[in-house]
Amino acid sequence: MAAEFRKDSDIIFERFIAGLDDSINNGERLKDADRDLQYSLHLQNQRIKRHGLTASFNYSTRGNLSGGLNLGDKWRDGHYINSVEVRSCGQKEEFFKDGKKLFKYKERSKIHQTLTSVTSPEDVADDEYICPDCGTPTKIKNLIDGCPSCGNKFKMSELYPKISDYHIEPDFSYTYGEMFGKTILPAMGITTGVFLLLGIILSVLLALLGVLGVVGAKVTGDSSTMNNAMSILGNSVSMFLFSGIMAIFSGAVQGWIIGTIIVLIRFAILSSKKLSAVPYLGTVRQFEEFMKKISPEFSYFFFAGKVMSMVKMMLLSDDPTELPFYNGKGINPAYKNVIEVASRGVVGLVDIKTEGDYVFCTSDVFLTNTYYMNGKVSRVDETVRVVMKKNVNKPVKMRFQITGIHCPNCGASFDATKNKTCPYCGGTYKIEDEDWSIEFLDRKS
Ligand SMILES: [Zn+2]
Ligand SMILES: [Zn+2]
Repeated sequence: MAAEFRKDSDIIFERFIAGLDDSINNGERLKDADRDLQYSLHLQNQRIKRHGLTASFNYSTRGNLSGGLNLGDKWRDGHYINSVEVRSCGQKEEFFKDGKKLFKYKERSKIHQTLTSVTSPEDVADDEYICPDCGTPTKIKNLIDGCPSCGNKFKMSELYPKISDYHIEPDFSYTYGEMFGKTILPAMGITTGVFLLLGIILSVLLALLGVLGVVGAKVTGDSSTMNNAMSILGNSVSMFLFSGIMAIFSGAVQGWIIGTIIVLIRFAILSSKKLSAVPYLGTVRQFEEFMKKISPEFSYFFFAGKVMSMVKMMLLSDDPTELPFYNGKGINPAYKNVIEVASRGVVGLVDIKTEGDYVFCTSDVFLTNTYYMNGKVSRVDETVRVVMKKNVNKPVKMRFQITGIHCPNCGASFDATKNKTCPYCGGTYKIEDEDWSIEFLDRKS
């Protein structure tokens, strides 16, 4: 029933998930990911390599939502539409060092992917795009006619849609097959077996008692002892038959109950790990109202995805001060040992304040981080606190990418992961005037 997602699938969702292993492990460019996400995957590849590790990220399809559930258009602006699709999967992740397996995680999970597509190719003809082959920033219409730098031509379908974000989280729901096949049925089998075994032991003991009685009666010639011994022998046979029937019926019933309890306990454990946005709802609403005044298309969902992908890059970057959106001083050295960053789905807003032209917002980001330390790989849930900054006079850009910054001085585009200043005019830029910057990041104490 479980099949692998295929790299040659017609569906971008499947190609993306099937390509993750080669991308994180071997540094292969994942064509279906947008450039910022490719950069994030590149950082993870470098981090794993630096620790001398190899990994295996294996995802198989499974029953629930195998056809995919589209959560609908979540946010859009004039030219771009972002939508989220969810599918259930079997998740198996492993880390190795020198061929030795250090860590294994196996869970029934759900994959969320954010798909960015365009409203129509004509609308975006004059928008900037980084040539997928040579990395030169140019207009989309130029890439279709032939990149001015490398000459390669692209079809619109090669430029959009792209996956701009993804995360994987445990799935609470069982398929019926999994619930019965993997939990209830084995529990029924085990309890039936235990009852049957007890029945056999009791009847064998009874039979032994009977045999001893018969032997004793033969020696003494006592006919009443003989009768008793014969009835004990008879009882051991009925005991055997009765316990067999009981084992099948009561074992099955109790097994079913135990199996159901296992399913419920698992559900309770997973739900307790799942976070709720409720404590932050007041601030979220306030923040959304505030941001909608600046950009009517602002969405908290979109913002949370943005925070998450920026934090992920920071934790996986060997020198976060090199990241174009980070204005802070260094980072907690413990993060150098992070080899994987996974979102737990909620970004909680703690505080919002404005100073002059800028809005500062403090958020708690809930993560499941995987560390490699002292020869061991461990996975922990932790909270990271970030302070972000943005110019309130500039609208939110849906397609802002650090790999394709638009220079405010000369208008040229460049990859800010490679140059902190514009390579064309040498001008500096403040990312908080274009998009969000991170001013502070550390473990929440
Ligand atoms: Zn090119
Ligand atoms: Zn410039």
